[in-house]
Amino acid sequence: MKMMNAIQIPGKGEKMRLVDIPVPQPGEGQVHLRVEACGVCNGDSIAISGFAPEYPRIPGHEVIGIVKELGAGSIQWKVGQRVGIGGHGGNNHVTGLTMDGGYAEYMVAFEDRRCCAANVCRRDHL
Ligand SMILES: [Zn+2]
Repeated sequence: MKMMNAIQIPGKGEKMRLVDIPVPQPGEGQVHLRVEACGVCNGDSIAISGFAPEYPRIPGHEVIGIVKELGAGSIQWKVGQRVGIGGHGGNNHVTGLTMDGGYAEYMVAFEDRRCCAANVCRRDHL
């Protein structure tokens, strides 16, 4: 099983810590990303303060990553594409609050129109 480093809130009211956990696999309608960068936002304090619906939770909702794998039924994005993931995680999720976010080497995101694809920032255009 492939593992990754992540910054995770282990439980309600607990401090974030660096953990070594399995790399998440994309489910139906999701894509698997290698995280390139993740903003640190005051919005992350919602999960850190104990208001996420479940723990452990990986915060981070301002993510730039490269699509590495497509889940079943994912057709909007392509492998190798650089994408941006915001707070609206798709499928009625809030990234980093109701599903894991970008304080990790890898993450999964729903392939939903509320997640933007930053084609103009592809590395071969820089
Ligand atoms: Zn934010």
